[in-house]
Amino acid sequence: MKRATRPMELSVRLAWYMLKNRLTGRRRFPLVTMLEPLEMCNLACIGCGRIHEYRSVMDKMMPVEEAVNAVKSSGAPIVSIAGGEPTIHPKIDEIINELVRRRYFVYCCTNGLLLERVMKKVPPSKYLSWVVHMDGMEDKHDEFVARKGVFRRARQAIEAALDGGYRVCTNTTIFRGCDVEDIHALFKDMTEMGVEGCMVSPGYDYEHAPDRDLFLTRKESRAAFKEILDESKVEGLKLYNNPLYLNFLRGEREYQCTAYSNPTYTVMGWRKPCYPLADEHVQDVKQLFDKDLWEKYGVGKDPRCAGCMMHCGFESATIFNAISSPKDWVTLIKSGAVSKSGITAA
Ligand code: SF4
Ligand code: SF4
Repeated sequence: MKRATRPMELSVRLAWYMLKNRLTGRRRFPLVTMLEPLEMCNLACIGCGRIHEYRSVMDKMMPVEEAVNAVKSSGAPIVSIAGGEPTIHPKIDEIINELVRRRYFVYCCTNGLLLERVMKKVPPSKYLSWVVHMDGMEDKHDEFVARKGVFRRARQAIEAALDGGYRVCTNTTIFRGCDVEDIHALFKDMTEMGVEGCMVSPGYDYEHAPDRDLFLTRKESRAAFKEILDESKVEGLKLYNNPLYLNFLRGEREYQCTAYSNPTYTVMGWRKPCYPLADEHVQDVKQLFDKDLWEKYGVGKDPRCAGCMMHCGFESATIFNAISSPKDWVTLIKSGAVSKSGITAA
């Protein structure tokens, strides 16, 4: 069966959007709005910080209008919906359908448990992709999400979504002690099923996560990714991240964080400064693009940034940097990867 794929319009629109911003002299601007319309979840994964950090507002559900207005005020053409578990939100169908109607490219991150229910109210579209959280094959995944049976249900949901004509990606977080062979088996399984691509990123050492021993240091991440992304092992597998970010994960390139590319709107407002860190929540997204702010955050500036290699800070950095490097820009265009700018939560 022919599977839905990433539309060319996404790369073209993003390239045009970046050009427009650069021509107006704007240095810091968003590529992806991270929207968290709730923080409640039906799982309690061992590496999750959100469900602990937002415990006091766990029952808050963002109204549809507020979600759409936040996306409009950010202005990025891509929206990544995360949380919490978005499919629990009673109006998630209205939020997605409204954003799709406005031609935003929506990536809805989910653990897959309730996906089949939501699909009944959200038709397939080239503007929509489900991003299903898969941290390993059955035993490993169920261990990370701390519940048996989740892998099977998520895999079944992926199958149903692909058969229903939806675009589908997966998102894998790498933790300390990961089983490299198991990760390869997962990518192979997902590739054979026909997903658009598998995204991968190291976990961030969330202060609120229950088991912080899980998180890799920068040095450990590079060693792990050298094995995971060994070219002979990943040949033929559909990885979704752009090749420059994969080089960065292997330790072959250095970048400074550009997390202003992924402003994150939650039920408490915009996280400031970034998706992993919220030293405060603010109501005006413009505060996240302030030059002075980015003199305080990033590798070598704040100790909490030392181990961070997340997509939101560094996949976008590969894209911003490529603007001034024709060779890198060609690499991105050739791989069709201009649009892969740190889309998912991890
Ligand atoms: S990582 Fe995602 S699926 Fe797991 S508890 Fe956190 S929000 Fe839920
Ligand atoms: S490196 Fe960037 S994305 Fe990572 S925690 Fe620091 S500011 Fe946030």
